[in-house]
This record gives sequence, structure tokens and C-alpha cells, in this order.
Amino acid sequence: MAQFINISPKENSGLNLFDFAPLTLKRLVVLGGGESGAGAAVLAKKQGFDVFVSDSSEIKPKYRDILEKYGIAYEEKQHTEELILNANEVVKSPGIPDKAPIVKKLIAQETPIVSEIEFAGRYTSAKMICITGSNGKTTTTSLIYHILKNAGLNVGLAGNIGDSLALQVAENDYDYYVIELSSFQLDGMYDFRAGIAILLNITPDHLDRYNYKFENYAAAKFRILQNQTAEDAFIYWNDDPVLELRIKNYELRENHATLYPFAEKKAPGVKAYTENKQINIETPKGNFTMEEELVALTGTHNLYNSLAAGIAAKLLDIKNEDIRRSLSDFKGVEHRLEKVAHVKGVEYINDSKATNVNSTWYALQSMKTPVVLILGGTDKGNDYKEIEALVEGKCRALIFLGIDNAKLHAFFDGKVGQTTDARSMEEAVSQAYEIAEKGDTVLLSPCCASFDLFQNYEDRGKQFKDCVRHL
Ligand code: ADP
Repeated sequence: MAQFINISPKENSGLNLFDFAPLTLKRLVVLGGGESGAGAAVLAKKQGFDVFVSDSSEIKPKYRDILEKYGIAYEEKQHTEELILNANEVVKSPGIPDKAPIVKKLIAQETPIVSEIEFAGRYTSAKMICITGSNGKTTTTSLIYHILKNAGLNVGLAGNIGDSLALQVAENDYDYYVIELSSFQLDGMYDFRAGIAILLNITPDHLDRYNYKFENYAAAKFRILQNQTAEDAFIYWNDDPVLELRIKNYELRENHATLYPFAEKKAPGVKAYTENKQINIETPKGNFTMEEELVALTGTHNLYNSLAAGIAAKLLDIKNEDIRRSLSDFKGVEHRLEKVAHVKGVEYINDSKATNVNSTWYALQSMKTPVVLILGGTDKGNDYKEIEALVEGKCRALIFLGIDNAKLHAFFDGKVGQTTDARSMEEAVSQAYEIAEKGDTVLLSPCCASFDLFQNYEDRGKQFKDCVRHL
């Protein structure tokens, strides 16, 4: 059932919203009543917009409560065209594709559609540190937030993690925001300016939303650079073949951002790298060095994430001892190469977030012992050739955890000592327990989405940890 609430000026604990509302309220429609939508609606309400939230599904109680607390009109389980197509502007949740019928209509009538980050960015003068890429966003965003927070900065964490940027801007604006940006959020960004932009890597992902053109997906990632000037910083992975040509073109642009490439090894122009087992970072704000061994996150991919975070921290004038401390005591993020337990001399690692081949490649590459690898699930068109050599070189056995494992068998059978099938996490973990030998690692790094047997990757990771802890 649709539900409409009358806007009441009495709402919201003493805030007299209509004192500063213009005579004719601008109508802002928010599509999607989740984290970003509810936050955008609250900010818009505080800014005096005539706000309406519409969600084609049920709105979660948490967000319904927020909308009701602020007296914001909303509907759920439907989109009422008369209440949406009269918008002056629309804030669209990143989860709603452009091909959704209501969005198509808005596009046809040229109603501006922006993302929550774009909208929120208009109402804060905080310094924005933005992170995008195909893999490593959450890890790097969390790490930078950890460094800045530990250094005592007044900083918020936003984007795909935690509270929406809009809600934070509305309720307790910070001096700095560390923001994880997906390509979908970037699609709806136009005037937003990132003081520091980080582009970790680009590998094919989400192509269904980009007309199956990798080019379009890559272009979306590059939107992180729009509006940057020479005063701003652009931090990126120097060895990414996809970035290479695009960066060359970007450098031709007048007044482009100052470039801070990072790489595993020193090379001309590279500002962060390792040499003689040391991390080195060179910036106009001074240099930074640290023994690689003391960095908490392990694996080459995490070295990249740490280098990117270190450059950002230096550019923000964080003291070297603070950066060092935070890089060494960072606990990592759940479901990303997360150490779960040691059982009878075998280490169990949860990398459930590895939903594509590239991230499993990095996980395997960082393993220093023989591996029993649990993989499988909903295949998004994977090319397993990418991990073939690592599997052959490092895996004692493969456990295929999925409803349909035919493609995995066809590719891997005969290439490792043993392959088995499991239809539940319990089965997979008990098989791994039987197969693994002292000194091995049991790694859950599935290469695939989780929707065939689990609610999502978090559910898959949690079940793995539960089963391991019950061994
Ligand atoms: P995202 O937020 O971009 O999905 P996460 O930090 O959640 O990235 O990590 C997702 C997966 O990718 C994990 O399995 C992780 O081990 C792997 N990963 C992390 N950083 C990188 C990187 N820089 N390059 C490639 N893979 C990475």
C-alpha cells in the first residue's frame, strides 16, 4: 500500500524548517528509500525542498522511521508517476539502473538526475577524499579513514560504507570525508569535486549496466577526476594497463590534477613504491618510509592499497609516526582475506568478498603455503585461465561450492590433486578439514557471486566462520 505523510512544520525536534524555505518549494524526488535515499531526503528537507521519496520495494523499517521522524512524504512498493515526474530534480539510488521505466521517463523529459553524493556535496565545504576502482575500494577507504581518525581529524566515512554522506552532512558535518565511490554513484556526479581522488584499478565488472561495453564502465570510473584542478591530487596504480592510455590523454588536459602514481617497484614518476623491503612515499609535503614487514595488510594487492592510503595521508599532513602506527595496527575489513582461526596447524581465511576472478588471483598470489581453495557460486562469465597457473602452483585441492559446478569441473579437473563438490558451507568446510594437511591454508575465495546458496557474500563469509569455529 502506498503511504503519504503530510509535511508538518512541527517535526524534527525544534528545527523550524519552514523559516528558511523559499516561497515556492523546489520539488526533489528521491528514488530508492535505502541508506543513500533516506539520507538525501533528510538533507533535502533540512535545505527546505519539497521532498518525496519513492521506492518500488518495501522500505526497511530503519529508513521508514527516519522519513517519519523528519515528516518526509514517501511511498513504497510502487512509483506514482504524477508524484515523480513533476520533480525539479531527482536523486537516484545507485542500485536503480537507467533502464528502469520510471528513470527512462525522467530522462526523456530531461529532468536532472543526480546521485546522493553529488547532492550532498553541494551542502558541505569539507575536503573530499574519494576512492574508486574495481577492487580494493572498501579496504582502502577503511584504511584511510582509520589513519585520519587515529590522527585526530574530524572525519566521516561515507559512500558504500556506513552512513550516507547526505545524512552526515545534514546531521554533523565533518571537516573531511573519506568516500567509497562505485561506478554507479559516479554516473550521477557532475559538479562534485574530489580534493583527493584515488583510482585503484579497472577490470571488467558490472558490464550489464554499461551496455556490455568495458569502455563505458572505464569512463564512469574516470568521472572521479572531473572538476579536479592542479591543487587537487589524483592517486592511481601506475601499472594498470587500462589506466595507462587514459592517463596519457588526461595529462594533456590543462590544469589537470597533480598526479601521484604508485607501483610495486620504483619507476620514473612513481611517487610510492617499495625498495629494499621498505615502503617509500614521496610528496611535496615530505617523504615517508616504513618497513614493509610492519604493514598490517598482506599481499601485493594490499600493498597497493596501503601505498595509495599512505600518499593520501601524507598529502593531508598526517605525521609520519601516525601513518606508521595506523598502517601497522589496521585490522582489515571483514570478509577480505580475513584470518579466522588456526585449527590443528591449518590456517582458515575468509575472502568471501572475492566475487570476481581478479580478486581471487590476488588472494592466491599472497598465499605462502599450500592451499585448499573453496570456490564457486554464481558465475558472472568468469575466465578461469587468469588463475590457472596460481591454482596449479599452489592448490592442493579445490572444493566447488555451488549448485552448478559443471564449468569449474570442466576447467580445473586434472589440474590439481583433487576436486570435490559441496552443496553447503558445512559440507565445504568439513571436506577442507579432511583434505588440508598441517601447514596448509584453507581459503574461501570464491571468484563468484553467492546468490545460488547464500543471501549475499556477507552471509557466505559468516557461515564459513561459524563452521570453522565449530570444527
Ligand atoms: P571493493 O570494495 O572494491 O569490492 P574490497 O576492499 O571489498 O574491494 O575487496 C574486494 C576483494 O578484492 C577482496 O577479495 C580483496 O582481497 C580483493 N582486493 C582488495 N584490494 C585489491 C586490489 N587493490 N586489487 C585487486 N584485488 C583487491
